[in-house]
Amino acid sequence: MSNSIEEIKKEVEAFVVSSEAELEAYRMRFISRKSIIGELFGNMKSVPAEERKAYGQDVNALKNLAEERFQFHIDSLKSGSKKAEDHPDLTLPPIESQFGTIHPLTATRQRFIEIFERIGFNVSSGPEIEDDWHNFTALNFPENHPAREMQDTFFLEKNPDIALRTHTSSVQIRVMENEKPPIRTLSPGRVFRNEAISARAHCVFHQMEGLYIDKGVSFADLKQTLYHFAKEMYTKDTQVRFRPSYFPFTEPSAEIDISCQICHGEGCNICKYSGWVEIGGAGMVDPNVLENCGIDSSVYSGFAFGMGIERITMLRYGIKDLRLFTENDIRFLKQFNSL
Ligand SMILES: [Zn+2]
Repeated sequence: MSNSIEEIKKEVEAFVVSSEAELEAYRMRFISRKSIIGELFGNMKSVPAEERKAYGQDVNALKNLAEERFQFHIDSLKSGSKKAEDHPDLTLPPIESQFGTIHPLTATRQRFIEIFERIGFNVSSGPEIEDDWHNFTALNFPENHPAREMQDTFFLEKNPDIALRTHTSSVQIRVMENEKPPIRTLSPGRVFRNEAISARAHCVFHQMEGLYIDKGVSFADLKQTLYHFAKEMYTKDTQVRFRPSYFPFTEPSAEIDISCQICHGEGCNICKYSGWVEIGGAGMVDPNVLENCGIDSSVYSGFAFGMGIERITMLRYGIKDLRLFTENDIRFLKQFNSL
């Protein structure tokens, strides 16, 4: 018997633990109830009475040794793993960093701002939740205008009306109320309209509006500014044309078309074989709007324009479906790595 105790003692001392699995193997062999040391305790009864005391002492000493060694293995395993953390293996190949890409809408907005900053425009922002005055009334929308209907606008409250802004013209009103001319400002931002989502329309999209108010501003200034914009945003040979239109807040008003960037006037399905694509609306700020904001319309005049950032971006990169901008499909976004 004592021989076997001696052998187990040697085994305990020689046992190597360098992993959690080996630690568990050690525990099963020497510490647990069913371990070989546990068995030795079980054998106690079969030991002759006169040897029992000495046997008990030997087994106890072995048990204490096994437990000491167990604690030692636990401690050295812990400090070993800490060492590995402190000293990572520098020869391992690096984990490649995944960089995000600039969203194409952000790139277009930045380009917009760059173009207009150079001709003296600053950037303004305003709330996305607007009251009736800033979104409609100050902009000369008549009482019965369809945009004021529930099917076109997301109202949050009625009487007094609070709605998600339908354009960033509301920002222009806030600027005119708070600043004295000359005013040259861009108002980029998210706008909301109650529209079915399709390849060409979305209920949430982005606008870029521009406003210039000073003494003696004419329609010629508006045209020249937008010619400059089109050539800078697209190519030097881009043509611009103005078609008469109507908006409550400008008079006269025009739709802005540019020559098709896809077919260069030859005709394609993007321009519906006309050679022209619409990019936004513009006009001379209606004197009523100036007066609503406390600006003397007999002294000052100005122009305003508005464009959809999505539309400008689609023409810029030949993107055919507006929904791609908000689907977060990495295969789409990765194509703009170089931005
Ligand atoms: Zn075309």
